[in-house]
Formats: sequence, structure tokens, C-alpha cells
Amino acid sequence: MKTDILIIGAGPSGTMAASMIRQAGLNAIIIEKEQFPRYVIGESLLPRCMNLLDEGGFLKAVEKQNFQKKYGAVFIRNGNVCEFNFNEQYTQECWTWTWQVPRDEFDKVLADEAEKKGVEIRYKTEVTGIDFLNDKQLVHTKNADGNEQTIEAQFVIDASGYGRVIPRLLDLDLPSSLAPRSSLFTQVEDIHRPGGTAGDRITIVEVEQGVWIWIIPFSNGKTSVGVVAPPEFYNRYEGNYTEKLRKILDDEPNTTGRFKDVPYAFDSVFIESYSIAVKQLYGNGWVLTGNASEFLDPVFSSGVTFAMESGWKAGMLAARQLKGETVDWDKEYVKHILQGVEVFRTYVNAWYDDTLQTIFFTDNVSPKIKSQICSVLAGYVWDKSNPFVRNHHKTVYTLAGMLKEGKV
Ligand code: FAD
Repeated sequence: MKTDILIIGAGPSGTMAASMIRQAGLNAIIIEKEQFPRYVIGESLLPRCMNLLDEGGFLKAVEKQNFQKKYGAVFIRNGNVCEFNFNEQYTQECWTWTWQVPRDEFDKVLADEAEKKGVEIRYKTEVTGIDFLNDKQLVHTKNADGNEQTIEAQFVIDASGYGRVIPRLLDLDLPSSLAPRSSLFTQVEDIHRPGGTAGDRITIVEVEQGVWIWIIPFSNGKTSVGVVAPPEFYNRYEGNYTEKLRKILDDEPNTTGRFKDVPYAFDSVFIESYSIAVKQLYGNGWVLTGNASEFLDPVFSSGVTFAMESGWKAGMLAARQLKGETVDWDKEYVKHILQGVEVFRTYVNAWYDDTLQTIFFTDNVSPKIKSQICSVLAGYVWDKSNPFVRNHHKTVYTLAGMLKEGKV
């Protein structure tokens, strides 16, 4: 069996890449380990995703799902509230809203749409190995019945998310530059949800420095709730994961009222040390996209946006290469992806070292500066006309320093 491009994983990165390959007139097969719909974490999108959904030809199908619209984000610390509204952005021609989505439903919509575009998806089939040859890749697969097959592809896109197929096969994993953090989360029946914006909007509650809770409401009445903290934080709480999560939410004044005794949709899930980096993003006949490449941290909901951005780029570039064009992967792919990753790395670090809070929880930041930061949080991290993108580290740390010294 032969194909032009084989993609590992039918998450947003894989389906985005597949759609771009079909748009270029080439064949794509996705090999997906699970049967869809399947649960995965990562439910809050960024406005930049809307451009990508549009590019991939997915927007209309997602619109029909009536997912919860997301117009901004709220950060809470010690009773202080900082709100970002995506209609107050610096970046021109940007989307001013996006969605909060149960990923089982969202990913299935994208996968079904990809199939309608002619992509073959083989569910319940796992990639078990790859022979990397000069002019082709031999991809070994095994389905749930134990049947094995080798597929010959000219190019492989690894969009396997936490599966990290090629990084594992080629020993490419690197420890992240970020300190290890773990997360404990579930979805609840949000029976005490407040009305209006307060109940609908994604809220990030800082419990103490380095520890925060997310609240991501869905349109189906459920809400995703989770904690991010250093691994040792969870030792303060007794019991199984669900009991620990209930106690953490009970202890926090901003969550106890809403989540006390609410039914959990499933037992709480614990993910340890999720941040990871990688030695290289591409090689001869393969490329890594989405979480199979680098993952930083969930605090600014950038994971799905990066998964789609990298899938979009990788799909287009791989198709161009197969059509005989020369692709400069360093310049056209690595540089582009790292540009976005480095901007978010600054903001993630600045969140955990308490710099960003100095900026968020003050009234002394001008609307213009706030709009520039808002565009970063909306995922427009390739807009270099924005000083908070172009000189991200300098602008963030200089502004916080000036605020601390009372110079702003
Ligand atoms: P995935 O969506 O994980 O898809 C990969 C697919 O590959 C899976 O379906 C898997 O079954 C398949 N696969 C794996 N191995 C194999 C194999 N060997 N063969 C075949 N198939 C395989 N992101 C956000 O944007 N917003 C958030 O609010 C957010 N919150 C998060 C909270 C936490 C605690 C964490 C850890 C992450 C969060 N993320 C968030 C990040 C988000 O989960 C990921 O960035 C996103 O899911 C990556 O998409 P992907 O397409 O790369 O991979």
C-alpha cells in the first residue's frame, strides 16, 4: 500500500495538515490509534485558530456545533480581576472571538470534515515503527485486531501529540526549559454556573504563585476544571485524584461555591510533567507538528493553536516538496514555529515568575499596551508590528519593572 503523505494522529494538527495536503491535490492517510470521539485535554481555543480553521476549510462545520463562544479571558488573584476582551486588540484584521470546545466533539468534527475532503483515516490503528529511507518511509501499523500492515509514504507528518512517535523512535526528546508542572482535571456538571458573562467566560484563578485553576465552560452545561501546580503541591491533599481535586477546589474561595458537590463527569485525570522539548523539528522525509514537537504550558491556551498552525504549515510545505519545489524547512517551518513558541515562552515564564501579574493586576497600563498584550493572548504571535511580539522579553520585563517602581 502506498500514499503520498502519511500522518500519524487525527488531532487538530493531523487533520489540519491533511486538509492542506488535499487542497494541494495530493493523497493523505491518517493513522489514528483511538476510535473517535475520544477524550483529550485542551479545550480553550485562541482567536488565531479561527483563521486556521478557515484556511483548512473547517470553519462552517465547526460553527454548526454551537460551541460556547469565547470573547476573552479573565484572570483572578486575591480578589483582583483582570479581564482581556478580544475585541480590544492591537492586531488588525484579527478574529475577536473563538470557542471553548469539548475536544472529543471538536476533533471528531475536524476528522469527519477531513474525510469528506478525501482523506482516509484508519482508526484503532497504531503506528508501531518507521523505516526511514532516503526516498521513502516505510510505516509499520497494527490495528486493534492485531493485523499488521506496512504503508509506503513519500513523507510522514508526526502529529501524534502525547504519543510522540518519531521523537521516541529517533530519541529526539529533550527536557523542557520550564520547571516540571503537573495537572489534575475533570469536567463537571456546572449546576451552580452563574448567569451571563461571568458563567461563560474562561477564568484563570491564581491560588498561589505557580499554582492556578482553570474554569472552561461549555455550551452543553458541563465545565472543564483543572489545576496546574508543581508536582509536590498535590502531596498536601489526601485521597485519590478526584478527592484531591475536590479539596483543592473547596479550599479556593473563588471556586468553592461553584464547584462544591457538583457531579464529576469522569474520575479526575492527572498528567505529570507535561512540558517537553525536542532536538529537531524535521528530517529527511518527516516533520513534527503539534504536541509531537514542543509543548510549553497550558496557562495561555496556546496548544491547539500551535497544533493547527504547525499542521497548516507542515501540510503545505510537504505538499510543495512532493510536487518538486525546494523547501527550506529551517527558514519556512522551524523559524516560523519557533517565533511563536519563543513569544509564548516569555509570557509563560513571566506568569510563573510573577512578572505578568504585575502588569495584569494594575489599572496603570494604557489601553494601547493592554491591546498589544491582548493580541499576544489571542495567538497573534506572528504580528511583528506589535512590540509585545517583536521585543517580547524586553517589553514585558521593562513594563513590569517600571510598574513596580511606580514609573508608569
Ligand atoms: P492530540 O490532540 O493529542 O492528537 C494526537 C493524536 O495522535 C491522538 O488522537 C492519539 O490517539 C494519536 N496517536 C498517538 N500515538 C499514536 C500512534 N502511535 N499511532 C497512531 N495514532 C497515535 N491547549 C489549548 O489549546 N487550550 C487549552 O485550554 C489547553 N489546556 C491544556 C491543559 C493541560 C493540562 C495540558 C497538558 C494541555 C493543554 N492544552 C491546551 C494543550 C493541548 O492538549 C494540545 O496542545 C493539543 O491537544 C495538541 O494537539 P495535537 O493535534 O498535536 O495532538
